[in-house]
Amino acid sequence: MKKVLSLICAAALLLPLCVTLPSCSSSGEYAVYNYFAMDTYVVLKFSRESKSGSRLSEEKLTEAAENCAAILERIDLSISSHNKDSAVYDLNSTYNMILSADDTLLETLSLADKVSALTDGAYDYTLGTLTELWNVTGGGPEGDGVPPTEDEIKEAMSHCGRDKLSVDGKKISKNDTAAKIDFGGVGKGIATQQLLEYLADTDIAYGIVSLGGNIGVFGKKPEYGSYKVGIRDPHSSGASSVIGYYYLSSGFISVSGDYERYFEHDGVRYHHIIDPSTGYPARSGLSSVAVITSNGAAADALSTALFVMGAEKGLAFYETSEIPFEAIFVTDAGEIVTTPGITDETFEKFAKS
Ligand code: AMP
Ligand code: MG
Repeated sequence: MKKVLSLICAAALLLPLCVTLPSCSSSGEYAVYNYFAMDTYVVLKFSRESKSGSRLSEEKLTEAAENCAAILERIDLSISSHNKDSAVYDLNSTYNMILSADDTLLETLSLADKVSALTDGAYDYTLGTLTELWNVTGGGPEGDGVPPTEDEIKEAMSHCGRDKLSVDGKKISKNDTAAKIDFGGVGKGIATQQLLEYLADTDIAYGIVSLGGNIGVFGKKPEYGSYKVGIRDPHSSGASSVIGYYYLSSGFISVSGDYERYFEHDGVRYHHIIDPSTGYPARSGLSSVAVITSNGAAADALSTALFVMGAEKGLAFYETSEIPFEAIFVTDAGEIVTTPGITDETFEKFAKS
């Protein structure tokens, strides 16, 4: 079934990142497509210019946007833990194994596994029993407002961990029948990555894609050199309030924040990023973290991992990380901490009022 794509102005681009571009009219420099897929808001901005400098037809641009929607649908059918028709849903809900995992699932698993190992388990895609218990899996229903008990958490934690899965070529099997995969911390990043790989092969000269808190850019740089990405102020209830602008000229930026999904109980906020070592929502002193790197899936998984680690450990991790990245941390106290590669040219920080 074809997705209905609409052309709209990107001013209403959604959270936690917002992009400000010089033109947002359907007849201007960009064609803008905005829709909902993979449980998130998707915004595609395509230059109307082709690689050879000619003007692309409306049909060509719409076809590319529809192909993007089809790519997202295919990814969802592979790695979503909420889509009842997906391979991961099947693995999570039955004792069965996946005999022949598709390329997206294998690619996601391999990247997730790598980040999990590099971050010493701060990022852990095998914590599905825990995120389900907390009711905070990406795309799932919001929590019911009551935290689980200590015993429930311990029991869920006993089914988490990389050793609960075995991968043999394209075969994925569970060593613990109760174990569950949750790719919620990497899925949108994989999707952004795959969209940009597709778009780089089209005749569209340049553009930008946004999926929830994940943004990637493709093609030749526009005249003004970079895209201005607003980083949301996690301490403001206003969605459009930002702590500054990151100027993204290539690659990806991904944000994880405690304001994305949470419930409050007895005055305590229980958010959706779980510290696998405690079984509770991470209390690392951070409210949000933005990660900039050249791979969309790595940006997504690392933002989740760095949120769990906190700024101090995150900065130490930066020094030795096999995956090069930059990061902007916003602490609970509202302080902004950045990795050494974030400069005044790339990040326009607003002074605290
Ligand atoms: P993100 O917003 O990218 O940080 O992803 C958060 C989502 O990832 C949650 O909704 C969970 O589905 C999942 N998740 C939560 N904690 C972790 C973790 N420590 N490692 C991997 N995935 C997680
Ligand atoms: Mg993430």
